Amino acid sequence: MKSEISNGQALQFSYEFFPPRTPKMTRRLWRAVGQLERLNPKFFSMTYGALGSDKQVSIDAAIAMHEESLIPVAAHLTCTNATRNEIDAVALKFHGAGFNRIIALRGDSSGEESPGHGYRDAVELVENLGKIANFDISVAAYPEVHPLASSAGTDLEILKRKLDAGANRAITQFFFDADCFLRFRDRVRRIGIDKPVIPGILPIHDFDKVQAFSQRCGTSVPQSYRALFAKVKHDKNAQYRLSVDLAVGLCDRLAREGVEQFHLYTLNQADMCLDISLALGACVSPLPMASAA
Ligand SMILES: Cc1cc2nc3c(=O)[nH]c(=O)nc-3n(C[C@H](O)[C@H](O)[C@H](O)COP(=O)(O)OP(=O)(O)OC[C@H]3O[C@@H](n4cnc5c(N)ncnc54)[C@H](O)[C@@H]3O)c2cc1C
Repeated sequence: MKSEISNGQALQFSYEFFPPRTPKMTRRLWRAVGQLERLNPKFFSMTYGALGSDKQVSIDAAIAMHEESLIPVAAHLTCTNATRNEIDAVALKFHGAGFNRIIALRGDSSGEESPGHGYRDAVELVENLGKIANFDISVAAYPEVHPLASSAGTDLEILKRKLDAGANRAITQFFFDADCFLRFRDRVRRIGIDKPVIPGILPIHDFDKVQAFSQRCGTSVPQSYRALFAKVKHDKNAQYRLSVDLAVGLCDRLAREGVEQFHLYTLNQADMCLDISLALGACVSPLPMASAA
């Protein structure tokens, strides 16, 4: 299925990865990076785990990707479970390593008390990142409302404050219902936000896991998906094709409504993201990136 975008403009993609923790995961990450960088995406991003040793693993993974890939890399940075000084030091480290893109997040609390003198939320983090360097900042948005938000209105107000504080765009939590995103985008525009809101797309590698994860994130899984995946329960190839078709269908519908950029959650696996992007019109660079640069 090849997308015919109504305004004829090529779609743009970014791909999100997470830090590998074992040599096997590291090899898988670099394989995925190698495959996806041939699509010449807008940027890659590397998530940030703020607990214990995750912090250093995340920083190292982001810097390694920044050094090894010709694609610009956005480093995620969360602000729970750390003091302001610690967060500022990480931001300075990213700046010193040559990053100019940050995805600024509150992060999920470990359940333990946050250390004193930390940033209260992503709004404060964005404000302070602006004082550290001239970062291009993205923030998170929730078409189906953050599970801990006191109301949908408050959630939206916090998004506006993050963007007013200096963020340039929002990237959404994943969702499966195009109308849900489009209604959210309408509400975003109605409260005066005119910065881009980029849909976050999660290809479904394992439907059972995605259902469980969606519940935690507050993302609804359409009833139709349950029926469709039930039909292909014993056929891995059919599951793969179904997942690609569903993601392409979702993005295609959004593209027809004027969406021009998509952020794909890769789970460090390239195949499905590659097939989805190609079906939506992405082109594989004929030359290795290094010699094309
Ligand atoms: C694109 C994207 C990338 C992400 N990357 C990462 C990552 O790299 N690492 C990571 O750890 N997480 C990541 N997350 C998850 C994110 O950190 C959580 O969703 C977090 O709970 C909220 O972060 P935020 O920046 O949206 O918070 P904020 O903008 O500060 O808050 C957003 C909304 O959530 C509510 N809220 C959040 N936490 C609480 C709380 N503890 N109590 C009460 N209300 C709360 C706020 O009231 C508000 O309505 C990502 C999410 C998205 C959408």
